[in-house]
Order: sequence, then structure tokens, then C-alpha cells
Amino acid sequence: MKVFVIDVAKCNGCYGCQIACKDEHVDNEWMPYAKPQPDTGHFWLKLKEKTHGQVPKVRLEYTPYLCMHCDDAPCIKKSDAFYKRPDGLVILDPVKAQGKKELIEACPYGTVYWNEELQLAQKCTGCAHLVDEGKPPRCVEFCATDALRFGEEEDFAEEIAKAEFIQPPVEGRPRVYYLNLPKLFIAGEVWDPEEDEIIEGAKLTLTSSTGMTWEGTTDGFGDFWFRRLCPDTYCLKIEAEGYQPVIKAGIKLEESLNIGDIPMHK
Ligand code: SF4
Ligand code: SF4
Repeated sequence: MKVFVIDVAKCNGCYGCQIACKDEHVDNEWMPYAKPQPDTGHFWLKLKEKTHGQVPKVRLEYTPYLCMHCDDAPCIKKSDAFYKRPDGLVILDPVKAQGKKELIEACPYGTVYWNEELQLAQKCTGCAHLVDEGKPPRCVEFCATDALRFGEEEDFAEEIAKAEFIQPPVEGRPRVYYLNLPKLFIAGEVWDPEEDEIIEGAKLTLTSSTGMTWEGTTDGFGDFWFRRLCPDTYCLKIEAEGYQPVIKAGIKLEESLNIGDIPMHK
């Protein structure tokens, strides 16, 4: 059974996969799996882009998003226009989907699109026409950074063991596994206002509401980053030799946060 493995940390946001999907499917008919994709409005593979943080502590993150080719697919339970191939790919039959706009509601992940011109519900086929020839899906073939991979489940056992599913929601046992999905960060800078200098090597201790702790030190620019955090309320303690400790309590993390310049006094 085939799976997709997507390592978000390797994605550089080139949009090549999204364009490759268009190149493969727009104006091309791959029956019995797909009629042509329209050149606008459909993203059978969509690169989701999100900006985290506030200037100057900002990070852009990209997440390729497609049909999850679920094992216990909610769409298949709703309509027999969807079916699962023995290799795990879920297909929306272009003949049975004709004229059925309601099928776009069958997917909790929002990956089914309506083709107004053809009056047809459509979605990612996993490039089943290429897979039948022993080739990878076009998006996977295009990806130069190996962020997108496709293959036999057993060959990816190591990656799958540490992978996550896209959220929300998690339904239907997806066959698209994600590594390094974007999480939140807390960042800032520590400085000495009397000397007008940054403080390198200050010791930072971050504590969550459940008592989990992370430690770090400021770098050569006085900067610190705590990455891959979950939404919560945090307390940050900053210590540096010769300075009074600083405690920042009640840091509410809902989106990635630059808490700015933190002064320390001797
Ligand atoms: S082709 Fe690869 S690197 Fe480029 S946007 Fe897609 S997943 Fe990211
Ligand atoms: S992601 Fe949506 S369309 Fe794809 S298999 Fe799952 S429920 Fe069906």
C-alpha cells in the first residue's frame, strides 16, 4: 500500500509541486481516473503558506496539502462515486461524479473541488495514471528537496513512526504522513540598556502551564528562540551573571510570538 510522506522542514516554498499538478492535469484527461482540471480555482495539491511571528522575528512556513487518501475514508462512506484502489489511492470516479456538486461536502479536509465547466466534482488522483506505469505522482517527481515522497508503506516505516497527521481534523486514517509540521515559537532579545549592548549567553528557562520546561541561551545577537511549542500559557525566566533575574509570567501563546527586547539590569 502506498503512502505520501511530507517533510515540511525540507519544503522551500518553491510552489513547484502545485505547478506540476496543474501541468499534469490541466487540459489533460487521464481516464478512468480524471477529466481535465480547470486552470483556475482548483488545487488538487495546494501549498499552504503561513507567516509566523512579528518583525523582526518572522518565519514563513509552507505545508503541501492534498487528498489524504484515507483508509477509512469519510467520502467513501458518503458516496459510491469514491473508491479505494488496492494500492491505497482514493479515486473520485469522473463518470459517477458527473453533475454531483454535493460531493464537495463529502471530504472533511476540503480537498474536493467543483468544475463548473464540466459540471463535475474532482480531486487529487495521486496521479494514479502514472503510478500504474510505475512512476511517482508528478508533484513528488518535481520536488527537488525530497520534501514530498511517495512509495510503499513498509519502506517508510521509520518516517511513519515519528510522523503526524495534518490537523484539524484527523479523520479517516489518512495515508499522507507529515514530518515537522509547523508549531509555534516564542522569540525575543535580551539586552543591557545601561551599556546599550546585547547580552550573549543569558540562560533562559521556559515553563509551560503543565510544568514542562525548556532551556536555552541567547546567541551572539542576544536573540533566543523556543521553537515547536504548542498553544499554552508560559513563564520565562532569564538569568545572566552580574544581572538581576527577569521573570516574564503569563505569556499566552496562541500564535507565534516575538516578545521583543527584554532589558536586564545589574
Ligand atoms: S516542490 Fe517540494 S520544495 Fe517545492 S513547494 Fe512543493 S514540497 Fe516544497
Ligand atoms: S481526504 Fe477527503 S477526499 Fe481524500 S480520501 Fe480522505 S475524505 Fe476522501
